[in-house]
Amino acid sequence: LFAGETEFVKGVVAMDGLPEADRLEVCFAGRSNVGKSSLINALTGRKGLARASNTPGRTQEINFFTAGDLYVVDLPGYGFANAPVAVVAKWQALLKQYLSGRPTLRRVFVLIDARHGAKAVDEEIMTLLDRSAVTFQVVMTKIDKVRGAALEESLAKTRAALAKHPAAYPELILTSSDKGDGIDVLRAIIATI
Ligand code: GDP
Repeated sequence: LFAGETEFVKGVVAMDGLPEADRLEVCFAGRSNVGKSSLINALTGRKGLARASNTPGRTQEINFFTAGDLYVVDLPGYGFANAPVAVVAKWQALLKQYLSGRPTLRRVFVLIDARHGAKAVDEEIMTLLDRSAVTFQVVMTKIDKVRGAALEESLAKTRAALAKHPAAYPELILTSSDKGDGIDVLRAIIATI
């Protein structure tokens, strides 16, 4: 599906910059540092396609890539501890507009760090997705960093959060971009979109 045919299209800062909705798309969202760039790079097999270190100032862009017949959309990382209120407000406004006004958006993958499980800020995004009636599925990242009871606890916490969100798929996808776990599973899911 992906390898060798993924291209960066554009970074968008306002609704009027969105590319034409002429194909289906999937979207990746998550807290800053959750491992979103690493996951997109692992999926596409192209290192450096999604910037692995997010440059401040470019973090507010919605980045569009083509992958086969789809758009893959990389949302700005949320939950920056020290982001100015105005920056957060602008981002939230754009996100709301995008989620509620994009008929070709098929699924949002919400990335959650397997060490921590779903946090309040993740639940805020989930609530926004419920309200926008956009189906979402949680991808646990960095599973190589946690095991045993600690992993079970973070999965249980995340499943409990999901149960409150009607737009959520119940199954979690467990991934490690470093070790390659779950990347094929995620690719296969995207292939059925
Ligand atoms: P982003 O801010 O969500 O795009 O996160 P990045 O992809 O830049 O990753 C943040 C940090 O986590 C980097 O230091 C990555 O090397 C690390 N990281 C990302 N994915 C994994 C993973 O699957 N396993 C481990 N051990 N580290 C990871």
